[in-house]
Amino acid sequence: MKNYHIETKCVQGGYTPGNGEPRQIPIIQSTTFKYSTSEDMGKLFNLEASGYFYSRLQNPTCDTVAAKICELEGGSAAMLLASGQAASFYSVFNIASCGDHVVSSSTIYGGTYNLFAVTMKRMGVEFTFVSPDCTEEELAAAFRPNTKAVFGETIANPALTVLDIEKFANAAHAHGVPLIIDNTFATPYNCRPIEWGADIVTHSTTKYMDGHASAVGGCIVDAGKFDWTKYAEKYPGLCTPDDSYHGVVYTERFGLAGAYITKATVQLMRDLGSSQSPQSAFLLNLGLESLHVRMQRHCENGQKVAEFLEAHPQVSWVNYPGLASSPYHALAQKYLPQGSCGVVSFGVKGGRAAAEKMMQHLEIAAIETHVADARSCCLHPASSTHRQMNDAELAAAGVSGDLIRLSCGLESAEDLIADLDNALSQI
Ligand SMILES: *Cc1c(COP(=O)(O)O)cnc(C)c1O
Repeated sequence: MKNYHIETKCVQGGYTPGNGEPRQIPIIQSTTFKYSTSEDMGKLFNLEASGYFYSRLQNPTCDTVAAKICELEGGSAAMLLASGQAASFYSVFNIASCGDHVVSSSTIYGGTYNLFAVTMKRMGVEFTFVSPDCTEEELAAAFRPNTKAVFGETIANPALTVLDIEKFANAAHAHGVPLIIDNTFATPYNCRPIEWGADIVTHSTTKYMDGHASAVGGCIVDAGKFDWTKYAEKYPGLCTPDDSYHGVVYTERFGLAGAYITKATVQLMRDLGSSQSPQSAFLLNLGLESLHVRMQRHCENGQKVAEFLEAHPQVSWVNYPGLASSPYHALAQKYLPQGSCGVVSFGVKGGRAAAEKMMQHLEIAAIETHVADARSCCLHPASSTHRQMNDAELAAAGVSGDLIRLSCGLESAEDLIADLDNALSQI
């Protein structure tokens, strides 16, 4: 697609039908694909020709939607996955395995923290967690000779810290490793991390991209800019022959633009099978068609609600990058000039008990383990998503016991504020 504005890419990216073809993307609900000769099919298995043979690896509907997200992020290649968790796992495991090390921001999604600190640790990949606010020296000190990647979230869920992407990109590149950014909360409408130096971008498409709480999904986009061959000894999986494909070398056959995503597809998706269903990809695409319109309203509602809460006597603190009082306001103005997201976190006077009581009285915002869809919802992370963490880990993740995470949907801001006002008066 031409270099259109992002709004046009949200609506029409990834798919240009030919004469007489469907205007909406077809759902190719087929596990398998037909070939005339075994030789034709053999070429696919040798990675000598591109095409579809089994939807565990690739499906045309999923690829169409991945191509749209690739355009939105400004990448060179992309893939859909079954969930954001799968995207986070594949993005790291594609370049780091047993005996390797990764530097990660400490303020990341609770599920990602558990994946890194517990599950991947069991697989032999070690993580060092650094504060997103660390100095350049502290960041540099976290690297080891076996470090293979740096990971962070543009806007952390639920801490709402804003990452200094350039600081993290510079440190990663100075140590010869790529920066992976989870851009779920910002979405490419509000921030495109590749423009700030990120090499790989991941998403839980379950959130704003789908936007209607309809389909769980994930996505990985590669910028195609990181030169694996310069550090070939660090990335043998990309730069030396893969015996399972008759000795193909991904960087040679697919170039920097395609090596990383091809490897993740033909190795990890083949072996682990976290594929997204074509039905889910279709729903995701419906969401993407209005992403730019919805994000404006989510941010507008988030800003109004945050300002209301900040002025309310029952509220002890409010964290929202769009507030001038936020320690992340300057970073938000730099990286998120159009707005951050619809998620606001705050604490109520009276701590944990008051927080739980207040939430019961909300009529519009439902209590849910979710954020970032059309309907407002709220959550008390310390008693739900983050309950596996001890107090020190909670503090490092930026989650206090009284923290309420409120995801402002697309309802009227006036109604949301009246609902909050009523619930706060019940404490
Ligand atoms: C929800 C979320 C994930 C995990 O995504 P799932 O689709 O639930 O697997 C990862 N990162 C962030 C920032 C999230 O908000």
